[in-house]
Amino acid sequence: MIDDPTNDLTEHRSPRRAALLLFALILLVLPAALAHSAPASKQGESATPPPGTSSPLIRAAAHKPPVIQKRIPFGKKRRREMAGYSKRHYGKREWRLKNPKVIVQHYSVTPTIAALYNTFRTDQPDPEFNEPPNVCAHFGVARSGKIFQFVSLDNRCRHTVGLNQTSIGIEHVGYSDHEVLSNPKQMRGSLKLTRWLRCRFDIRIRNVIGHNESLSSPYHREKVEAMKNVTHGDFKHSSMNRYRKQLRGTGRCKRLQRLVVSPV
Ligand SMILES: [Zn+2]
Repeated sequence: MIDDPTNDLTEHRSPRRAALLLFALILLVLPAALAHSAPASKQGESATPPPGTSSPLIRAAAHKPPVIQKRIPFGKKRRREMAGYSKRHYGKREWRLKNPKVIVQHYSVTPTIAALYNTFRTDQPDPEFNEPPNVCAHFGVARSGKIFQFVSLDNRCRHTVGLNQTSIGIEHVGYSDHEVLSNPKQMRGSLKLTRWLRCRFDIRIRNVIGHNESLSSPYHREKVEAMKNVTHGDFKHSSMNRYRKQLRGTGRCKRLQRLVVSPV
């Protein structure tokens, strides 16, 4: 989401003052935009401001945590299948994820990130509903707290029935809510990632939910009758209350952080 800078200008009647403000805004936004379009580093990250720049925008963008890129293949066939899934379940053919409103937390029921990656990598009908494309999530958080990205934020991923049209999915390596919540390293990584995402897309803390809370989300949509009440057991309401309390403790989003948005 991009805040509309012209809103600020309407309050200032003087054209000269408005022109000055616009110029100042360009000075603020340009270095950040250039930094954002710079070639990605080894890990696909560019969180460090270029030398000599110190704009508040770039400082805000530096809150992005280190993310290790481990992308699954998401070519034409999988996109076409994702668009077909969207048509059947949400009524519109679309594979792109635009303006996500929800972040869904999961645990992986796998022992490692590599095992999780292998679960998502191949594209075949999923084992639960026997429907293409295969399931996936955008991110995975290892027990060490390291963050891995499997899928572009520009793509929809099948991770939560009823919410794939508007949500980002985060998997945590582990076998229970308790296991993840009681691992300080993993929680630190998870909170940093979730905070960055929610600030970037202007997602409210109440819309950072556990998979098990999916049916009570105001964004839940499902056209297929047999799947209208389908959810999973990971990250129950009581666990997410603990998670959201910690997320709230990381502080409010800086407004400027939302000015620069591009798919990763
Ligand atoms: Zn789940």
